[in-house]
Amino acid sequence: MRIAAIIVAGGSGSRASRSLNDIPKQYVSVGGQPMLARTLRIYETHPQISRTLTVIRDCDADLYQACSGAAHSRRMAPVHGGETRQQSVLNGLRALKDEAPDFVLIHDAARPFITHAIIDRVILALRESVGAIAATPVVDTLKRGAAGMIEQTVDRVGLWGAQTPQGFRFADILEAHEAAAMAGRTQFSDDASIAEWRGLRVALVDGSRENWKITTAEDLARADRVFMNGWETRLGTGFDVHSFEPGDFVTLCGVRVKHTHKLNGHSDSDAPLHALTDALLGAIGAGDIGDHFPPSDMQWKGADSAIFLRHARDLIAARGGRIVNVDLTILAERPKIAPHRGAMRACVAGILEIDIDRVGLKATTMETLGFIGRREGLAAMASASVALPMKSDGMT
Ligand code: MG
Repeated sequence: MRIAAIIVAGGSGSRASRSLNDIPKQYVSVGGQPMLARTLRIYETHPQISRTLTVIRDCDADLYQACSGAAHSRRMAPVHGGETRQQSVLNGLRALKDEAPDFVLIHDAARPFITHAIIDRVILALRESVGAIAATPVVDTLKRGAAGMIEQTVDRVGLWGAQTPQGFRFADILEAHEAAAMAGRTQFSDDASIAEWRGLRVALVDGSRENWKITTAEDLARADRVFMNGWETRLGTGFDVHSFEPGDFVTLCGVRVKHTHKLNGHSDSDAPLHALTDALLGAIGAGDIGDHFPPSDMQWKGADSAIFLRHARDLIAARGGRIVNVDLTILAERPKIAPHRGAMRACVAGILEIDIDRVGLKATTMETLGFIGRREGLAAMASASVALPMKSDGMT
């Protein structure tokens, strides 16, 4: 079953633009990360999503590039949106034609509090239904008003607030969108209403009131507060040792360094990256590197240790978290680390997609003492600080 996600980021966000900049809201930082980057990462770390496609305004290409981070294997090139949200989604659906996924989830970039649990529920409902959307029961009493006066109280029984993701069988929602465009029906405000108009049955599944949409400048400020108040800081540590054997280079922090020996081990034996992977896994209580990449598994023989580090990074992102900083110490009599320090820090920052000033790297000799002093091997220690959103209830 192949599932694609379309992230709709084609709006101008004029209702939320901050006075100091004119950046559309989906590119504005909330809690230190652009809204779109956060939303995208949650989909790209979901195990069942095979493709992500973002719809952007053509004038926002630079903003998109700056905020979307390093290329991701599941990510398709962005497509340009249209005049309306409906047109933007249609452009996204057309761009997925060649991929022909079984299902597509359509999600607004302005809902950065989406969780894997909600995505799971929508996907599950698609087993039984052509369409399924996240939604929450309306809790406020509803009034219809005119000129600032109540005209009528609307019975809220059976009323739901529609959220995203909205998931559909791909062929059906593409057909419905094309038919709506052909019929000149261009005023639908969500994709479910197009499906309904086409006679498709769409299921309601539990969203979360925390999966709210950031619309106004007030919402942006609230989102910032949520990120600031609702976070806890975690700490993890890691340690690793590898012995030397005959060879002519070692790989440390992803950088190849000439040496009189190489490091013995199953992967590329990048001890600092192994220690760092363990530190990140430790910060989220997710076991250690051997649990995720068993040394008995032949596919990791000679592997680039960046793979392990990326995996830990993605596990943190999947929990909606972010890496605050990491700090490494390499213990080695030889080779000398100092000449490579800049390249090593840059490499780690690149893999983790964090600023280089969040990566510390030091080295020390062991004053010729012990196995390291005798140049039989080297060791590395790492610590990592990770910010995680605190869970407020079981549903999210
Ligand atoms: Mg190791």
